[in-house]
Amino acid sequence: MTEQARVIPAQAGKPKLTVLLAAPRGFCAGVDRAIKIVELALQKYGAPVYVRHEIVHNRYVVEGLERKGAVFVEELDEVPNGVPVVFSAHGVPKSVFKGAEDRSLFYLDATCPLVTKVHVDAQRHAREGRTVILIGHAGHPEVIGTMGQLPAGNVVLVEDVEQAEKLQVDGPEKLAFVTQTTLSVDDTKAIVGVLKRRFPSIKGPRTEDICYATTNRQAAVKAIAVQCDALIVIGAANSSNSKRLAEVAQPAGCAKSLLIPRAADLDPRWLDGVRRLGVTAGASAPEILVQELIDSLRDRFDVTVEEVDITKEDIEFSLPRALTA
Ligand code: SF4
Repeated sequence: MTEQARVIPAQAGKPKLTVLLAAPRGFCAGVDRAIKIVELALQKYGAPVYVRHEIVHNRYVVEGLERKGAVFVEELDEVPNGVPVVFSAHGVPKSVFKGAEDRSLFYLDATCPLVTKVHVDAQRHAREGRTVILIGHAGHPEVIGTMGQLPAGNVVLVEDVEQAEKLQVDGPEKLAFVTQTTLSVDDTKAIVGVLKRRFPSIKGPRTEDICYATTNRQAAVKAIAVQCDALIVIGAANSSNSKRLAEVAQPAGCAKSLLIPRAADLDPRWLDGVRRLGVTAGASAPEILVQELIDSLRDRFDVTVEEVDITKEDIEFSLPRALTA
């Protein structure tokens, strides 16, 4: 990995604060693609374009798209006939595609291709007669979508090491695992370790299905954590990868961490005594919100920004043909 630091000089006359800006941070290729799908659908078909669930977990993004004519709903039965509907980046159960087809709705699937890969793997394992263990967090839309690729009874959710230790299954010699893409790399390794010890013939990906963006953002936080008194993650409370960024900071050596959606959500007292602050953003948080935080810090501090770049990302996913033809 390369490590580069870009230094933006401080202003005079206020307490000093060094901001270590983690890179990569913020938008990933899957989020970028999902937002473009909604924007292009609005351009091509006109408003309204319906979106089932928040296209990505970020209110700023969702409200920006609402202003352009997107309408966000939780379920397909809230979508009127005759308008396009987009399925969010987290993926949807098969029953949602069927529901759309039964009503002849025109839909665009913004599921991240890395989530689709997990769906395909889970289906292959089930076809080959394996029970699929999904490592993930109950209730997250990606988990609901992945579980919904398989018939009930073919998939079991495991959330942590304790559940992996206690897991009882019929046919323990015919098991496979897949994972949510936005988990903690370290926690997931521990869960996979338990499953492999208890069920030596279990099939699965070589490591796990955690995506490149989640892995890189966690690695960037770990690289700066030990040099920081505190770390702020810009992201939504319901964003899995953002929550994991706040969690990995402390075991990596940072005294405290905080997940906030916007600069205005920061209680200024939280920064008392902080001289070196780490800053990052979840994969669904736009860069403008990171810069908003830094601008607000400049009101109170003499801020020096050092960007610590641990790796470059150049992944792009193609768009649905209906939008590019
Ligand atoms: S966080 Fe990973 S899996 Fe989720 S949309 Fe981004 S690239 Fe895809």
